[in-house]
Amino acid sequence: MIHVAHVDKFYGDFQALSDVDLSVNQGERIVICGPSGSGKSTLIRCLNGLEFHDAGEIIVDGISVEEDSKHLKTLRQEVGMVFQQFNLFPHLTILENLTIGPMKVRKIAKAEAEKRARLYLERVHIPEQADKYPAQLSGGQQQRVAIARSLCMETRIMLFDEPTSALDPEMINEVLDVMVELADTGITMVCVTHEMGFARKVADRIVFMEAGRIMETATPDKFFTNPDSERLKLFLGQIL
Ligand code: ATP
Ligand code: MG
Repeated sequence: MIHVAHVDKFYGDFQALSDVDLSVNQGERIVICGPSGSGKSTLIRCLNGLEFHDAGEIIVDGISVEEDSKHLKTLRQEVGMVFQQFNLFPHLTILENLTIGPMKVRKIAKAEAEKRARLYLERVHIPEQADKYPAQLSGGQQQRVAIARSLCMETRIMLFDEPTSALDPEMINEVLDVMVELADTGITMVCVTHEMGFARKVADRIVFMEAGRIMETATPDKFFTNPDSERLKLFLGQIL
């Protein structure tokens, strides 16, 4: 589903990714963690063409991710992304935030798009918020709207970049719960997060990055109980 091989990425002279390899099968759930500046966001943004790699190969759902690719639009339609900041349209209601993509991009009729939006608002447990504006919702609710918005596009791959790190502590679990439920639906997920409880519960594999490299990839069991690298032991010591 996702194939990354020998990927390098530079910002000017600075090398943000070095020889990164990662393969993700359909339905797999991958968690990426690592210290600040290690290249986690860069890697995940390279998967849907928000950034472009300079060397190596990235193939997502059969599409080679390249700046001049004719298929970038298709790629972005197939890959949903949820960010730390929710990026909802402030002047649109929740329902409108959820229907605009399917109507404009997927050319779905309004009634059908609204039906779908209400379905996914149910799925993230806030059906009653449909007619409010984003500013009237809590952070946790807004992030659940952002997740529902991605679901409305019925993408086969979902990328998350620290979706809970801007939330107040009491709202983190309501978003993680929704993500755990989502993981159970069989969607392919790549998630940058430091929520290790979540990683332990849903990840098929956990990837540890440092200084632009993947230092270690392991099942949760091995990751937490018997990591290979000293750097990962140190990192786990700091965050657990
Ligand atoms: P964090 O945990 O803080 O989100 P990260 O692992 O996501 O960190 P990245 O955002 O991928 O790290 O950044 C990796 C490195 O690349 C950092 O040193 C960062 O300063 C640099 N970098 C990221 N984006 C740019 C950019 N647009 N221009 C120049 N340098 C950048
Ligand atoms: Mg980041």
